[in-house]
Amino acid sequence: RAKASFGEMICYYQSEMDEAVRTRRQIAADLRYAVERQELRLLYQPQHAVQTGELVGYEVLVRWVHGTRGMISPMDFIPIAEETGDILAIGEWVLREAAMAAAQWDNGLKVAVNLSPVQLQQPDLVRRITEILLESGLPPKRLELEITESAIISDKLQALHMLRQIKALGISIAMDDFGTGYSSLDTLHSFPFDKIKIDKSFLMQSSTSPQAAAILRAVLALGRSLKIPVLAEGVETPEQLELLLSEGCAEGQGYLYGRPQPLEADGAPLGLGATG
Ligand code: C2E
Ligand code: MG
Ligand code: MG
Ligand code: MG
Repeated sequence: RAKASFGEMICYYQSEMDEAVRTRRQIAADLRYAVERQELRLLYQPQHAVQTGELVGYEVLVRWVHGTRGMISPMDFIPIAEETGDILAIGEWVLREAAMAAAQWDNGLKVAVNLSPVQLQQPDLVRRITEILLESGLPPKRLELEITESAIISDKLQALHMLRQIKALGISIAMDDFGTGYSSLDTLHSFPFDKIKIDKSFLMQSSTSPQAAAILRAVLALGRSLKIPVLAEGVETPEQLELLLSEGCAEGQGYLYGRPQPLEADGAPLGLGATG
């Protein structure tokens, strides 16, 4: 067979790129209506105390059940929603749904909700959160907001000011995906985070990479010195749990404890009752 000419190859990549751009544009267009069409779903993933095994809360993770494309991962639509601004409506929907659900659980567990950097730039964010708390009846101490460092990077002073106001409501703030992206120790020191979530890549590579294991231990030591509890993401195996136990990690989240799950018919996560 003759080799494809350079020109043909360029055409091939060009058409693939056009296709990707078209798909992205179509997803962005459909995303505008995803909330109204009730196409978003929430899953709840358990978080456990490592030393006792006790269930301590749930993280809420959004999914988009698209009319024709089926289930779309947040990794494939949250970045687009952040570009178009639709993340504001989506984020508010997620927070309201999660708060309404958690307010009905009879165990008083915490619910952790991811907050986009774009939401953090919304001037009336604090008022919106306050309204959702009042509407749902969820006590602020049962709500945790997870933010990544990229949320703080663009306008650090404004972001920290917003986080302080949120914290003043009694809501706790977790730093998400610590160790990836723009992590800097400076951010940890300029804001009193209530929790550090170490990114799953470190635990997942800890058995094969001495460097990853060393970073994991260093973050745990850092948390101890700063008196900030550390949660390890991506706990999948008993060996990984052993490591967390021996290193004194406070909390864990991952498939070993449980996958993200929809709520049961009674509105509570798997295995819990609802008073509601
Ligand atoms: P994240 O906040 O770091 O969430 C943890 C991700 O790790 C979730 O992916 C979860 O399903 C996955 N995970 C949990 N345990 C394990 C494990 O043991 N092994 C492996 N391999 N993965 C595990 P998911 O649900 O695909 O969410 C991806 C990201 O999308 C989240 O990362 C978060 O940044 C974002 N996201 C999800 N829901 C929302 C939301 O409502 N709002 C915003 N702004 N972002 C969201
Ligand atoms: Mg998170
Ligand atoms: Mg995370
Ligand atoms: Mg992550």
